[in-house]
Amino acid sequence: MNPVTAPTMSPTDAAASVTLEPTPLADARAQLAEAVDLLGLGDGLHQMLATPRREMAVAVPLRLDSGESRLYLGYRVQHNFSRGPAKGGLRYAPNVNLDEVRALAMWMTWKCALLDVPYGGAKGGLAIDPREHSVAELERVTRRYTSEILPIIGPERDIPAPDIGTDERTMAWIMDTYSVNSGYTVPGIVTGKPISLGGSLGRASATSRGVTHIALAALRHAGLEPARSSAAVQGFGKVGADAARFLAEAGVKVKAVSDQYGAIRNDRGLDIEVLSDHVRATGSVVGFAGADELDRDELLTQDVDLLVPAAVEGVLNQANAGAVKASVVVEGANGPTTPAADAILRERGVLVVPDILANAGGVIVSYFEWVQANQAYWWRADEVESRLEERMLNAWRHVLGYAEARDLSLRTAATALAVERVAEAHRLRGLYP
Ligand code: GLU
Repeated sequence: MNPVTAPTMSPTDAAASVTLEPTPLADARAQLAEAVDLLGLGDGLHQMLATPRREMAVAVPLRLDSGESRLYLGYRVQHNFSRGPAKGGLRYAPNVNLDEVRALAMWMTWKCALLDVPYGGAKGGLAIDPREHSVAELERVTRRYTSEILPIIGPERDIPAPDIGTDERTMAWIMDTYSVNSGYTVPGIVTGKPISLGGSLGRASATSRGVTHIALAALRHAGLEPARSSAAVQGFGKVGADAARFLAEAGVKVKAVSDQYGAIRNDRGLDIEVLSDHVRATGSVVGFAGADELDRDELLTQDVDLLVPAAVEGVLNQANAGAVKASVVVEGANGPTTPAADAILRERGVLVVPDILANAGGVIVSYFEWVQANQAYWWRADEVESRLEERMLNAWRHVLGYAEARDLSLRTAATALAVERVAEAHRLRGLYP
């Protein structure tokens, strides 16, 4: 889509496209439209919230180790600044596109508002398969992408963080590129940095810890005792692997996990420590001696109590939502459930805890990291963890109370609460000029 035409697209056009061709952006806009309707916000505000405030598309040339060059397309979308600097991850994946980044940026705005961290929302993406490149190539492409988006990022403007395909090493290169161009070290430019460069203790596992706090609360709410419950986790990456480990530590029997190559199951519960060693050695959960193999997509329809989709968008959709057997779904990924699947799951009585609540642990500890970096004063791991838990559980209770009082799904309640906060900030600031 041409970035110039996007701001004129009306929310009604956006809603109409949901039924024709579901995409993360159509899904995000449909969720927004529902919240806007519920809150009775006007069309002008709806259009503003449906449209990123600023977006940048860049062509990023990379000199390969072989001496040849390649060109990759990159994006940084800043959806909203009403409550503070834009904030959100940077994704490296071959199918990244502008509309996907727009959706992810919008979800960041709601996530930050819902958890009451003083940020707007942003997301970045580079359409590259990081597995096809050497470390030296990844460093060059990261530094060039960073220098292309340099004019619009900064510790008070927009603060990137890791997402799919990027990690603390990527953040170190971004911080160094930004700092060299500034002439001094700027640790607050990114979060998810290595600890020795001013990263926060507990950041790397924060999303998974948050997912686990919420999953345990949601299971209990559904009348299931965690120690007598079972789970399936889709994705064994930055979010899924630690979520599986923390759930198992809390007594949940993690029976099945998957990654992009396949899925495995063991009814006695997978040994997550041994599985993690296998994944470190082979790069996949496939071939793990302590389990049986499944088809990758069968993961989502296993007979377990808890399902944690912790991979990519749109995996729970019209085609498979009717076959989900879990009674609780906790979204570790961003946008894993389409609106059509949401409706089916709600109809079937499945409790879905939405991404903007369930996976907010990452950006909460990103916020803690930014605060620590700006003050050059670092907290102990137990301080980080107890503040994370407190924020996650407060938000859970708040969303649950709002949903129960109005007979809404947790997603509609969470989105409405978040949109209301952003709309309030916008109203208080007024429209310039
Ligand atoms: N990429 C993560 C997310 O989707 C973290 C963003 C951040 O920490 O800024 O929430």
